[in-house]
Amino acid sequence: MLFEDRFTRPLHVVVVGGGIAGLAAALRIRDTAPDGTAVTVIEQAGSVGGKLRTGWVAGVPVEDGAESFLLRVPEARALAERVGLAGDLVSPSSAGATVWVDGTLRALPAGTMLGVPADLEATAASGVLSEDGLTLVRAEPGRPGVPLGDGDVAVGALVADRLGAEVVDRLVEPLLGGVYAGRASHLSLRATMPALAAGLADQPSLVRAARAARGTPGSSAPSGPIFATVRGGLSRLVTTVAHASKAAIRTGMPVRALQRTPDGWQLTVGSAGLGGSTTVRADAVVLAVPAAPASRLLADVDGTAARTVGVLEYASVGLVSLVLPGRLPLPPGTGALVPASSGRLVKAVTYVSQKWGHVLDGHVGEPVTVVRASVGRHGEEAVLQRDDESLVAAVTEELGTLVPLPGGWPAPLGVRVNRWGGALPQYAPGHLDRVAAVRAALAAEPTLALAGAAYDGVGIPACIRSGQAAADQVLSALADERSRDDRVPAERALTRGEPVHG
Ligand SMILES: Cc1cc2nc3c(=O)[nH]c(=O)nc-3n(C[C@H](O)[C@H](O)[C@H](O)COP(=O)(O)OP(=O)(O)OC[C@H]3O[C@@H](n4cnc5c(N)ncnc54)[C@H](O)[C@@H]3O)c2cc1C
Repeated sequence: MLFEDRFTRPLHVVVVGGGIAGLAAALRIRDTAPDGTAVTVIEQAGSVGGKLRTGWVAGVPVEDGAESFLLRVPEARALAERVGLAGDLVSPSSAGATVWVDGTLRALPAGTMLGVPADLEATAASGVLSEDGLTLVRAEPGRPGVPLGDGDVAVGALVADRLGAEVVDRLVEPLLGGVYAGRASHLSLRATMPALAAGLADQPSLVRAARAARGTPGSSAPSGPIFATVRGGLSRLVTTVAHASKAAIRTGMPVRALQRTPDGWQLTVGSAGLGGSTTVRADAVVLAVPAAPASRLLADVDGTAARTVGVLEYASVGLVSLVLPGRLPLPPGTGALVPASSGRLVKAVTYVSQKWGHVLDGHVGEPVTVVRASVGRHGEEAVLQRDDESLVAAVTEELGTLVPLPGGWPAPLGVRVNRWGGALPQYAPGHLDRVAAVRAALAAEPTLALAGAAYDGVGIPACIRSGQAAADQVLSALADERSRDDRVPAERALTRGEPVHG
């Protein structure tokens, strides 16, 4: 052999960030890259998984972060199937959520698009809106207005203008808040409700757009379960995907810098302090970290991309999981949403053991009930600065009002508090244009790809899809690089004036 250069040596792809986007990228590389390609996942935390992590409290598995994924967007189910977890997918054992309105829990109406009514009779029957609120909604399809075209607006402003503030406050914001922990007034219609935005391109009615997005009028909602999770918890998905990727997983290693080199990329990894840092060479890099670290790492690559990624804001959230003694007589359904206008700390309550009956499979001892409350909306970071004791006390006190139980709420047998600083990206109006601008700025560097919740969707399936797309991009760029230069290595070395070893 003459010598091994970047056109002949085995490829090395580094994935920065071991959340589900990074792990999905690693597995895609393993599945589709040329034999011998090395994959390394570098993760700053002590374990991989990012926002997917299962913990235990009082002998019951509880999710510290995300609890389930949408089945309608196929990537998460397909990934679970790919790694042999098809038989371990479970769907909710109860259905229907409620919203806390005028001091009482009311069933969320069927037939809405993230709270925008498509079925006006179901909305009326739910009792969630006042008579005045309903009148505005009923009149909306006939009201003149300006189509959205290809523009973007804040969800809250548009819905309030067309359907009234009640629809924002009681339906859209609680539902959007469940996904983004954000305020409807700050979230992009096009990024958070793309189907609705498409339906407004050439006509102004939100109700008609919601109907179009849900299917033809009168058509039923898709059958079958909407969500699924993995028996044993989402950490199983994480570890199984990590294992299947056969990647070298390096945890506890922050990537501190990323630089272009003549033949690829150099990453500076490790702490700046006494532990010291090391450099890692890569032919391609998938950057699957949240916006702030992505912005820092892009600084030496492209200033425009770094600045544009850096403007993305995040909401921080906290979760308080309670294991309570006995089978408590919770209201029917999966849980309750609490509008921000209520002034309550708690923004949602999940009746975990009622929604996901399997979590108590194998539970021994006295019967228990598991409930999870989430707190913290965008801009309410101070809430999470309380210590655990006062946070739990405030949450349990509110539960007594939000979900009153005949005998009151008993003292919990076990409590788990999780705080996620920088949990959920807030896609502000113009988000899709900013993402396109970042990708355009990086177009000259196709062996570097971005993935994760900061860009193309915060849900688990969207993050998986973005990781897979990033993997496809860098592998295709590497294949192009190698096929562009099909001269023999010696020729290439001579043209570059490099020595030929033989
Ligand atoms: C509380 C909560 C509940 C949620 N519930 C749901 C749900 O039920 N269903 C759903 O679909 N989605 C849910 N989501 C959203 C979803 O879980 C996330 O959007 C998704 O998991 C993000 O995946 P990711 O890989 O993009 O990022 P992350 O999970 O954030 O992973 C990024 C990783 O990069 C690492 N990292 C950061 N900087 C560096 C660096 N410099 N060097 C190396 N590593 C670094 C981080 O430590 C992290 O592990 C929830 C999110 C939260 C916070």
